[in-house]
Amino acid sequence: MAFEVHIIGSGSALPAKGRHHSAQLLKINQSHYLVDCGEGTQFRLVTLGHSLLKITAIFISHLHGDHILGLFGLVSSMDMMGRKKPLFIFSPPGVAELLVSYFRVTNTVLGYELTVKEMDVSEKRLVYEDANVNVFAFPLKHGVSTQGYLFQEKATPRNLIKAKLPPDIKIQEIVKLKAGENVLDENGKIKYSVEDLTHLPPAGKSYAYCSDTEYFENVVAHVQHVDLLFHETTYLEMHKEKAIKNNHSTAKEAAMIARMAHVQKLAIGHLSSRYADFDAHLEEAQKEFANTEAATEGKVFIL
Ligand SMILES: [Zn+2]
Repeated sequence: MAFEVHIIGSGSALPAKGRHHSAQLLKINQSHYLVDCGEGTQFRLVTLGHSLLKITAIFISHLHGDHILGLFGLVSSMDMMGRKKPLFIFSPPGVAELLVSYFRVTNTVLGYELTVKEMDVSEKRLVYEDANVNVFAFPLKHGVSTQGYLFQEKATPRNLIKAKLPPDIKIQEIVKLKAGENVLDENGKIKYSVEDLTHLPPAGKSYAYCSDTEYFENVVAHVQHVDLLFHETTYLEMHKEKAIKNNHSTAKEAAMIARMAHVQKLAIGHLSSRYADFDAHLEEAQKEFANTEAATEGKVFIL
């Protein structure tokens, strides 16, 4: 099982040297998912060696330009590259109107099926599911409709203890054991015990994304015990009045959320262009939550 979070861009709205707009690529087993799609995302994906065509679904947090302006180019490039498989976009309301306007004025007809699912979530809910992962959206607080996402890897089948398997066990009996069921004989008695013949597989990994948001304690309940939490840290405490005015968080506030939610690791990003590097943000956050890392661009978190 593989669960990787690739940081494609982790800057905020204004251009900053060496930092690009928000995007992350999740690789969960063989499937690829994009989270946010700021300006230049397709260039960043190609530069970092990723395939545009492997992306199955795109999850948008909100409609501010630094999180969506890359969509127009990306969906068009996928078409020019001959994409045939469907693409899903999940987003707060408005993205379909923007895309349809763009397609209309440019006379674009896509050669693949694009499904846009818009939602304005007021509580945590399941928005997407496939063989690998359940994806939940939950509300953030950012002045416009904004949602975070929780990616939970699905539990895998139990692992067989091969040395203990009877030589005459049938395939359908193995299937039952892997599904966590005892195999019964014709009298209803246990013939093969799931406890004796299988191990529990490792727990599924989880990743939560909170960008952008002001300090919002409701998030804590939605991201409990995740393996990795990305939480925006646009400002430092010394610029807290700007964080409040612009509906963003400070490094200390993000770390407080991580501590209260007992997450394994916190990744910080979406720094204002006023800061040259992550140093002060890391120092501020690590005082509250030691296991904090910078979501620098190109970094890969392997869960
Ligand atoms: Zn924003």
